[in-house]
Amino acid sequence: MARSYVSEARRKVGPKRDRIRPVIERLSAEYADARIALLFRTPLELLVSVMLSAQTTDVNVNRVTEKLFQKYRRPEDYLAVPQEELEEDIFQTGFFRQKAKALRGTMRILIEDYGGEVPDSFEALLRLPGVARKTANVVSAERGHAQGIVVDTHVRRLSQRLGLTKEEDPVKIERDLMKLVPRADWARFPHLLIWHGRRVCDARRPACEDCVVRELCPSSRV
Ligand code: SF4
Repeated sequence: MARSYVSEARRKVGPKRDRIRPVIERLSAEYADARIALLFRTPLELLVSVMLSAQTTDVNVNRVTEKLFQKYRRPEDYLAVPQEELEEDIFQTGFFRQKAKALRGTMRILIEDYGGEVPDSFEALLRLPGVARKTANVVSAERGHAQGIVVDTHVRRLSQRLGLTKEEDPVKIERDLMKLVPRADWARFPHLLIWHGRRVCDARRPACEDCVVRELCPSSRV
């Protein structure tokens, strides 16, 4: 019964290939300001912010980095203090021991291999300690050369509800989205879903009656 209801809903909204552009257009019109919530001024600050954002909120990271970035301006600054001091300075972001260790390892490589700069290449980013695919994706996208599509909890939930993927695993979801979303939209697309997820398509109570993509969504309740 449930299965036929789902396939009926899918049939009604049409194939995902036909829906993806109108979905992006409507969400872009609704959230013209959709952008990353982390605050940073330089590629180094961007990288550090994203590394600190694992397992915590962007608001919390911004609170910590406001002071942190006054004290730590260059990669060398992260190595000039004892690890315990850095741990204290990032304590409020959680997992502070692993994060301090990853930050210091990363800074060492930036200094030794990249002249103190954050590398452009996605593969080079992935080789930095504590930088997984999601972090590398966010950093690349913000620097104007997205190599993939960031999949966080909102992107995962909304992609599933919008019938863009049937997968659960973030890597497989990303693969599905990369086949579907035009490359020019890879950087913007996750922000649109994240903003929509926070404002309308809530995990427990999606406000389908207020949703600008409800006619395009097989999970719409209205
Ligand atoms: S129609 Fe409902 S379930 Fe679908 S995207 Fe909008 S709020 Fe989410």
